[in-house]
Amino acid sequence: MKVLKFGGKSLDNGLGIATVLDIIIDSYEQGDAPVVVVSARGKSTDALLALVEQARRGEAFDEELSRFWAHQGEGLSLSFEKEQRELGRLLTGISLLRECSPRLEDALVSYGEVLSSKYVAEALRARGYSAVAIDSGDFLVTDDHFGSASVFTEVSRERCQALFAGLPSGTIPIVTGFIARSEAGERTTLGRNGSNYSAALLANFLGASIMENFTHVDGIYTADPEKDPTATKFDRITYDEIYNRGLKVMDLTATTMCRENNLPIIVFDMDTPGNLIKVLRGESIGTFVGF
Ligand code: ASP
Ligand code: MG
Repeated sequence: MKVLKFGGKSLDNGLGIATVLDIIIDSYEQGDAPVVVVSARGKSTDALLALVEQARRGEAFDEELSRFWAHQGEGLSLSFEKEQRELGRLLTGISLLRECSPRLEDALVSYGEVLSSKYVAEALRARGYSAVAIDSGDFLVTDDHFGSASVFTEVSRERCQALFAGLPSGTIPIVTGFIARSEAGERTTLGRNGSNYSAALLANFLGASIMENFTHVDGIYTADPEKDPTATKFDRITYDEIYNRGLKVMDLTATTMCRENNLPIIVFDMDTPGNLIKVLRGESIGTFVGF
């Protein structure tokens, strides 16, 4: 089993989402039994936070909200009626109170990932595959430190394994990154860019053989290539080397979780033209992180 993780930019409308679907289908057809973890699509998280700000200031947000929904549904006949109602209610509440608690902000921002998983699952079904959107709040249990909650790993592992054991075989699970629920059942989030951590947890709970991280950096470099033109890319690197050199792969918690579980990661770039073909051919184009 493989965990495939896609970042927001990869999942955006147009070529991004089309490429993501091809990669998932290819992985499924090759018998990898992919479990997919998705971030919010495009800049949805920022758009949601901007809506919160507008509502908090008591400004009109209808136009931005319509644009948000147009972006979410593009290319599919999904109207997200239930989510539109819920999100509208939350924003109206913030606007009336002129304030938004961290708790409410988590409830609101979680829609980015919820909509993303539903969109990808529906797009796969439209192409004839059996796919199901899974809300990671159904198995990831955290404390109630809203905005950057800590995961209770053991109970989350049990719930995750039970949930996945109950899925019909041949179904492709599309799981939300970044979001969870507290023990009391309230919506929590794992902190910005937390989807990598969600993917690492899932890979660990389900005993994945590898985590493939599709992102917009084409691998791991000796230094920041934007600042240092002499920086070179690693085709392969060990976890020890990453720590010794102080390099950044994902965030530290996610990297450490993968290392502790002997889980190799491949960091792929989806921006470079032609890379998709190489990924589909199984050619290495990113950096392989292993032991
Ligand atoms: N959507 C969240 C963010 O933008 C989580 C993630 O992308 O990993 O921070
Ligand atoms: Mg994101």
